[in-house]
Amino acid sequence: MSARLELENVTHCYGRGEPALSDLSLTVEPGELVALLGPSGCGKTTALKVLAGLLSPSSGDVRVEGSSVMGITPEKRRTAMVFQKPLLFPHMNVAGNVGFGLRMRGSTEDSEQRISEALEQVQMEGFADRDPGELSGGQQQRVALARALVTSPKLLLLDEPFSALDANLRSEMRKLVKRLQREGDYTTVFVTHDQEEAVILADRIALLFDGELQMYDRPQAFYDHPASMEVARFFGATNFLEGRAENGSVRTRLGDLRLENPGPTGDVTLTIRPEAIRLEKGENSFAANIISATYLGTQVHYALESHGIRIRAALPPHVRLEVGEEVSVRLPAESLWALEG
Ligand code: ATP
Repeated sequence: MSARLELENVTHCYGRGEPALSDLSLTVEPGELVALLGPSGCGKTTALKVLAGLLSPSSGDVRVEGSSVMGITPEKRRTAMVFQKPLLFPHMNVAGNVGFGLRMRGSTEDSEQRISEALEQVQMEGFADRDPGELSGGQQQRVALARALVTSPKLLLLDEPFSALDANLRSEMRKLVKRLQREGDYTTVFVTHDQEEAVILADRIALLFDGELQMYDRPQAFYDHPASMEVARFFGATNFLEGRAENGSVRTRLGDLRLENPGPTGDVTLTIRPEAIRLEKGENSFAANIISATYLGTQVHYALESHGIRIRAALPPHVRLEVGEEVSVRLPAESLWALEG
């Protein structure tokens, strides 16, 4: 049975300085996979340690299935954790490592059967007698995953588990984790600094900067409706345009622009992603010059200029335009998003 997880106003200070985690509140629904995302030092690992019971926060509460788990030791929390490094015991073979979690909980019943099932889940059947030193990095991480899952945890916590693996292996492991998480219906918190990894894996993303939650939503919302310019920037939006919103449209130096989601009124900053920009005439269009073109294989990135404003557009490679050309640029109403101020 998967569990509902709640963090309420969790704050943690390591010393006298700024808190590593500030007033973090979020709820993870049963069976949901939430990615804790943010740049290095933003407090992701601190939050995960609080969830695992490895760190007692300065204040706040953590509840699993509605009951506070503060003061409950990590072993008693039915929480399994997978770290960046597999941390396998070198003196135990693979089966010994996977069974370790079961032994820690004093469970001997069917343990052989459960170990072999867990190894099968991570496609490592046939490796039970190997020593960890005889395994590749990816295989070791699979064993670490099996060791976590064999205990049927209520909460699965993963701390950048694939960051040491190469790109192909990382992609394979993401698929494996996603499949196992769905099959087992585990409530999962996955720490990563990789925006793409968070988008691929997560049902919802919690984005942290400097220990503070910036936005908690479905991955698509970070692209479509960023909560702030910082959030938009973190997700790769590079176009910002100041304006004044009145009567359903925004007055800007590029003309009056209509937005499908009108958003706040008064002074606003409009944001639009480079890949949402169209080179065509129509609503919200204006003339611009091409300043530079960078061919990247699957896309061409253009820098455009109009009325002294730079606009970045990412277009498919079959659209080939020359530097100096004048083009019509359209900012589709459905792709414009207004932020206050
Ligand atoms: P990374 O992605 O680099 O692992 P993170 O987002 O997981 O970073 P944390 O490890 O949670 O961030 O650290 C948050 C802040 O707390 C950082 O400023 C870090 O220097 C500080 N910090 C972490 N652990 C300790 C500690 N044991 N003592 C003092 N400060 C710490």
